[in-house]
Amino acid sequence: MLKRIANYLKGKIASLMVKQAIIATAKKSLPFLIGSIFPIGFLVILIILIAGCLLSIIQVAKEKATAMPTMDVNWIISADGKTMIPAQYLPIYQKLGKEYGVPWNLLAAIHNVETSFGRNLNTSSAGAVGHVQFMPCNWLGWDYYKDKCDRLGDFLPSVHIDLTNPKNFHNGQAVDYNKDGKMDPNNILDSVAAAAKRLANDKKRTGKDWFDRGGPVWKYNPSDKYVTKVEKYFTLFASQRQTASPLSGQYGGSITSSSFSMPAKGRYTGRFGENRGDHIHAGIDIAAPIGTPMYAVADGIVTRSKTNPGGFGYYVVINHGSIGGKSVETWYGHMYPNTVLVKLRMRVSRGQKIAEVGNNGRSSGPHLHFEVHVNGKAVEPLNWIPKR
Ligand SMILES: [Zn+2]
Repeated sequence: MLKRIANYLKGKIASLMVKQAIIATAKKSLPFLIGSIFPIGFLVILIILIAGCLLSIIQVAKEKATAMPTMDVNWIISADGKTMIPAQYLPIYQKLGKEYGVPWNLLAAIHNVETSFGRNLNTSSAGAVGHVQFMPCNWLGWDYYKDKCDRLGDFLPSVHIDLTNPKNFHNGQAVDYNKDGKMDPNNILDSVAAAAKRLANDKKRTGKDWFDRGGPVWKYNPSDKYVTKVEKYFTLFASQRQTASPLSGQYGGSITSSSFSMPAKGRYTGRFGENRGDHIHAGIDIAAPIGTPMYAVADGIVTRSKTNPGGFGYYVVINHGSIGGKSVETWYGHMYPNTVLVKLRMRVSRGQKIAEVGNNGRSSGPHLHFEVHVNGKAVEPLNWIPKR
């Protein structure tokens, strides 16, 4: 932070100095100009003016960059190392769990199984909404809306009701936990509190244990497969063996979306979003000779390192934590396995060599195929890596 302020001040002082220089030069060259309109005088003033403009443009860009949301590189990893609980949610599960008398890891397990920790908030085919997938009629009050609901608990197509408006609430399961005047199934606090309340009530009402047939989790979604899946994560999360503290990279565990470094030196040969006939290109291609070093673009944890003969050849996925609650990953493809230096669950730092450029898999020449994923969706990598 201090460093940032110092940099900012430095920039300000620099631009002030340039302004002063312009004024001084203008004062000095005024008589000279009046005396004889000399092209060299003009040129000098022009150059100084352009330099001043450029400096202020750089200043604006710098301010924009520092305004980017910071990335909280912080996870809780499940015992099998395959699932990462976003750290910003952990205190929420714990607080609500305690309050409603539900184990925190049960809330985390349901959040994961329902929407992959809120990464997928799309309405389900049955009509369930929000972080922990409530049916709209359950949310507002099924008894009251009986004749407006379908068999599964979604409102009939002709019915349009604001699920977040407390005026529409009639003894349903919705909760306005964050007290913002809305009962929002897409709000993490409102939705998880509603789930906790419902699970606790069902436990009391049925007298059964969490994962019993006919018990609270089964009532949440009456399917043995569902209950087994939730129980699996419940167990994994309870015995998570690794608590990843903020990573200590050169950004001290807090980096911005504009501070990615280059994944490899080379020439851009494939654009993001390009139509490749049978697929849309989900990343960029950086052509470089075989053996060119490939680097992690930011601090993170390796969540995949595996072979994919028909496509990426061998590829590595690094999870960088979250930016504003959105999970950010980078993907690196077409390597030969013997050049890959990282293993699953390994921590890597920005700029660390992870592999070498190869020509493995579905590849028409030595290159790095590089992707950036935000909340599981590929996005334009050029918006993330340094401009050139
Ligand atoms: Zn590619």
